[in-house]
Amino acid sequence: MEIRDFEIKEITELTKGNSDSHPIYSFKLNPISGPNYKFKPGQFITIFSEDGKLFRSYSIASAPEWDFIELFIEMIKGKMTSYLSNKRVGDVLRIGEPRGNFLLEEKTKSVYLAAGVGIAPFFSILRHSIINNVSIDSYLFYSVKHMDDIILLNELESFERIGLRILINITRDQNIPEHFFQGRINTEKIKRHVPDYMERKYYICGGLTFAKDLKTSLMNEGITEDKILSDIWGEN
Ligand SMILES: Cc1cc2nc3c(=O)[nH]c(=O)nc-3n(C[C@H](O)[C@H](O)[C@H](O)COP(=O)(O)OP(=O)(O)OC[C@H]3O[C@@H](n4cnc5c(N)ncnc54)[C@H](O)[C@@H]3O)c2cc1C
Repeated sequence: MEIRDFEIKEITELTKGNSDSHPIYSFKLNPISGPNYKFKPGQFITIFSEDGKLFRSYSIASAPEWDFIELFIEMIKGKMTSYLSNKRVGDVLRIGEPRGNFLLEEKTKSVYLAAGVGIAPFFSILRHSIINNVSIDSYLFYSVKHMDDIILLNELESFERIGLRILINITRDQNIPEHFFQGRINTEKIKRHVPDYMERKYYICGGLTFAKDLKTSLMNEGITEDKILSDIWGEN
């Protein structure tokens, strides 16, 4: 695998986290030399520690057109996230080349199902589509525990301009705006809001339980396995 050095150009806190959720940070990374890696929306890169012993994957949230890579990282205080929390702007990270088959295509009529920081790969396809002024016939069901766990809401809502329909699901807070939805994402909600739900392709990104449960329920509704693609990140 090709591994290259990237400089940290910017670190921004996107969400603060709550007693039962973690802060999420944006890391913007510039290649030290040469052009940015080429990738397709939905792919991930791997961050390696200096000695190469520690490595973890992160979905790319930036558009392929940008000259830097943006990642959204939930700081859970595990091994890699603790390593990253000691990094500062100007430090260098070793980044493995983009990989993965969770490929998002702007022309596919889709339903995007994201939990928490699992929204990251969807930002990549939506940013790519808005840059190219391609209209997108997709629904995004995005689930977070609390209102202030939502990442970049203004930017997310700007994608409605190219046709995205957004349904934000809040699982823990009780006082939520009228146009948001209470509780988890489930097939009842999907059937209620997506009239042609049988014809669409499903992309699920988030933790193991979220992805497994949703995939099983979709298949119970008659959606065939070839229409469901999941990017599963471990337990949360
Ligand atoms: C293809 C792919 C793409 C990914 N993309 C992203 C991404 O865009 N953003 C991102 O933040 N992560 C992403 N991940 C997860 C990431 O690779 C790491 O697993 C995560 O950052 C934790 O690594 P760590 O070394 O800090 O924790 P570790 O030391 O590996 O784990 C510590 C413990 O925390 C548990 N754990 C893992 N996640 C959570 C959680 N959310 N809440 C509570 N406990 C948890 C683990 O099960 C483990 O027991 C992706 C994973 C894959 C496979």
